[in-house]
Amino acid sequence: MTERLVIIGGDAAGMSAASQARRMKSAKELEIVVFERGHFTSFSACGIPYWVGGDVRERDQLIARTPEEHRARDIDLRMRVEVLELDVPGHRVRARELESGAESWVGYDKLVIATGATPIRPPIPGIDAPGVHGVQTLDDGQDLIESLESSPGRRAVVVGAGYVGVEMAEALINRGYEVTVINRGPQPMATLDPDMGSLIRKAMEGLGIRVLCTAELTKVLTDDTGRVRAVATAEAEFPADVVVLGIGVRPNTELARAAGLPLGSHDGLLTDLSMRVRGYRDVWAGGDCVEVLDLVSGTERHIALGTHANKHGQIIGANIGGGYATFPGVVGTAVSKVCDLEVARTGLREKDAHAAGLQFETVTIESTSRSGYFPGTAPMTVKMLAERRTGRLLGVQLVGREGAAKRIDIAAVALTARMTVDQMIALDLGYAPPFSPVWDPILVAARKAAVAVERNR
Ligand SMILES: Cc1cc2nc3c(=O)[nH]c(=O)nc-3n(C[C@H](O)[C@H](O)[C@H](O)COP(=O)(O)OP(=O)(O)OC[C@H]3O[C@@H](n4cnc5c(N)ncnc54)[C@H](O)[C@@H]3O)c2cc1C
Repeated sequence: MTERLVIIGGDAAGMSAASQARRMKSAKELEIVVFERGHFTSFSACGIPYWVGGDVRERDQLIARTPEEHRARDIDLRMRVEVLELDVPGHRVRARELESGAESWVGYDKLVIATGATPIRPPIPGIDAPGVHGVQTLDDGQDLIESLESSPGRRAVVVGAGYVGVEMAEALINRGYEVTVINRGPQPMATLDPDMGSLIRKAMEGLGIRVLCTAELTKVLTDDTGRVRAVATAEAEFPADVVVLGIGVRPNTELARAAGLPLGSHDGLLTDLSMRVRGYRDVWAGGDCVEVLDLVSGTERHIALGTHANKHGQIIGANIGGGYATFPGVVGTAVSKVCDLEVARTGLREKDAHAAGLQFETVTIESTSRSGYFPGTAPMTVKMLAERRTGRLLGVQLVGREGAAKRIDIAAVALTARMTVDQMIALDLGYAPPFSPVWDPILVAARKAAVAVERNR
């Protein structure tokens, strides 16, 4: 008998699940129906800042697979259809075709929830005015580009200095805008400790970006036509022809909540290691709508990243397809950049380590990306946290120029393997003058951390 798999959400997690399940089961064995309320599937939101900034020329370069390509592989992809309700005991979902308004119940044998995350939009006056933009979807990106092309002036305000805000600030600078970033936290990039965040602030200011920290948006002010003309914080007003919101996201789990599925303390769905929703045999979930296990602190977190969403989808598809795969958790690795400044982090910040009840040593070192004498060498700052007494690596943050960010992968592997900083010193990393100093900056930090651990043992 043919089983029916219904998937809600047709982007990274949803379409990875559909593709993997289809690789493992034929259309005779498994019918796959995907509901996607948007206009696109399998697109890279990660590329939107680079499209807006002009590094990527065409919108369609950000689309990995079109609906037609998915359909050619026997995936029944229903675009512009929104799922409005889950009836989990009845094994069915209520779906509405957004163009016609027609509604129907569709039954399933297996269900995948891949509804992603919802961008935060503070409920303040003027927030929905023309000229105020999110950057979650390709439609958002297109609207922003059109808004920039027709904007009366060249003053942009970015709200939020997480990685999306910082990347959008770069995009707007590249388009010749005067950019002000308004950030609630004490420094940009709250995923780093404030001392490392201050390096990013300094670099952004060096690029001519005005960075306002511990400042909160209170109002969007509009002109006679209703278009944004300025934004206000408690302290001041800032003229703005365009405003971009990058304040963060929360899991899109309203349907799941209404259906009584288990949510964690961050409102993300809770799954077991096979990405099956806890306590529900026939329901899986993955991507930005779930919480993940932090392997370093042992706590559940909500981390909205495409790299996780694609893996979740593949694991779900493999399990539904009759195979066996698990997602063990994450160490919290992320990379970003603002112009030529590269930023990377993995593991715990100081405040995470405190919250987890860990005692630790912290070291910060200055090094370079290449041998000191080699042309193009650039400074790099590495901060490392190691557990007191055991010396287990707890986290690394890194700020530098070309070649800095991807060094974080060494630390991500060391964290996953639960290595001590002492063991890291012995890692056989590659060396030649164009690529690193003879002691790679990660090794220099590990050596200093090992000394600190030894001293306080
Ligand atoms: C500007 C930007 C830059 C980013 N850069 C990076 C990066 O550099 N690296 C990285 O790892 N990650 C990055 N991300 C994050 C990454 O894009 C997301 O983590 C990833 O897209 C999550 O995939 P997902 O499938 O879980 O959710 P989504 O991509 O959000 O897909 C969910 C889909 O579900 C649909 N949907 C929701 N509810 C319903 C419903 N009820 N009915 C029908 N359809 C529904 C939505 O329309 C959407 O298409 C970035 C994100 C943004 C916005």
